[in-house]
Amino acid sequence: MKKFDLAVVGGGIIGAATLYKLRQKFPDARLVLLEKESESALHQTGRNSGVIHSGLYYAPGSLKAQTCLDGYRQLIPFCQEHDVFHEVCGKVVVATEESERPRLQTLYERGINNGLKGLEWLDSCGIRSHEPFIAGVQGLYVPQTGIVDYRGMTRALLSHVTSGAGVHEVLYDFRVESIAERENGLQLAGSGQAVWAEQVVFCGGLQADRLAVQDGANVDVKIVPFRGDYYELAPHAKNKVRHLVYPVPDPQFPFLGVHFTRMHDGSVECGPNAVFSFKREGYSKTSFDWTDTLESLGYAGTWKLFAKQWRYGLGEYERAFSKSKFLKALQRLMPDLQAEDLIPGRSGVRAQALRSDGTLVDDFVFVRGQRAIHVVNAPSPAATACLAIADKIVSLVEV
Ligand SMILES: Cc1cc2nc3c(=O)[nH]c(=O)nc-3n(C[C@H](O)[C@H](O)[C@H](O)COP(=O)(O)OP(=O)(O)OC[C@H]3O[C@@H](n4cnc5c(N)ncnc54)[C@H](O)[C@@H]3O)c2cc1C
Repeated sequence: MKKFDLAVVGGGIIGAATLYKLRQKFPDARLVLLEKESESALHQTGRNSGVIHSGLYYAPGSLKAQTCLDGYRQLIPFCQEHDVFHEVCGKVVVATEESERPRLQTLYERGINNGLKGLEWLDSCGIRSHEPFIAGVQGLYVPQTGIVDYRGMTRALLSHVTSGAGVHEVLYDFRVESIAERENGLQLAGSGQAVWAEQVVFCGGLQADRLAVQDGANVDVKIVPFRGDYYELAPHAKNKVRHLVYPVPDPQFPFLGVHFTRMHDGSVECGPNAVFSFKREGYSKTSFDWTDTLESLGYAGTWKLFAKQWRYGLGEYERAFSKSKFLKALQRLMPDLQAEDLIPGRSGVRAQALRSDGTLVDDFVFVRGQRAIHVVNAPSPAATACLAIADKIVSLVEV
């Protein structure tokens, strides 16, 4: 059995950034990353909206706000240095009704409190000068927001570590199935393999709570999966969006509402919605897994959430199965959008921690085990914040 000083479980962007920062802080330590898939970033990281968030939305002082801002400051130079596609193109947040103005004002104040510069109020003409096909009563231009290739960034983080001197390995097709305490460390086994490490950082995304429970850590939340479906603008309609266009989010929900995003490959995505998923890593509308479903539905928090948000949930389900309903949500921002402008796109599943009282956990959550640190809740903007999140994690590790 191979022995390491430190192991990271999970090859999404949080695991990759953690490995990168561990190598910087402990250059002589033997490091390993274990990933159950045959390549990195196949789940949340490779299926997200690809947006570099500016820090506009998050409560000042929250971990999300701190790490988003710090992560942003680190991400841009990393991408420049490692030749990862990124572009700081700015975005427009659009109030489509008078009733949304106060919430847009709150966002503006949050942005200012979080240190954003250059925020610009737009009237309906101003909105059109940025995005000619978008209509609204008031807009907020956020110059710092950008787009990036998060899959490419994850690969760059990992290859930077493995190409350096020292014993640093990334083992793919290694699903951690058992975690056992042995000789002042943890033995991680699965997929016919086993490694030992003195300390382990678990960054399992959609499986994070299960890994924490297996390790005997004290977790009082469950990961509930929310699928987000996207449409794409058809080639003839791509010119209808220049950069990024977002609605004013509903503060009751942690999701930002369906938006238009120009992606790093030039496509324009529209979405994602947010529907309860019957499979944690299931990417089609009919994906189903008994274990995942029974676990979610056997949790009191899920039913309490359903009871509170049934109207919203039903609306999201309708949009998932009805293109015309999805179109209607997008037409609030772009009234002239037509059904033929939309072609079905991909989907992603968000790992969202839920408390047993039915409240969604908004901020990032790290839990300490005996010889481990568990990243239990790392929803958006964790990809933007990954390098700062990794700093926080690494500050908890001692070898
Ligand atoms: C639809 C969607 C849109 C989003 N948009 C944005 C955005 O625009 N900007 C932004 O900043 N954030 C966004 N996010 C959030 C962001 O993508 C996530 O916060 C981030 O990718 C989380 O990274 P992660 O490494 O924790 O998880 P993941 O990327 O899910 O990685 C977890 C990894 O752990 C592996 N794993 C799990 N269990 C095991 C095991 N037992 N053994 C070995 N390996 C295991 C998995 O295979 C996976 O590779 C979005 C998320 C979604 C789903």
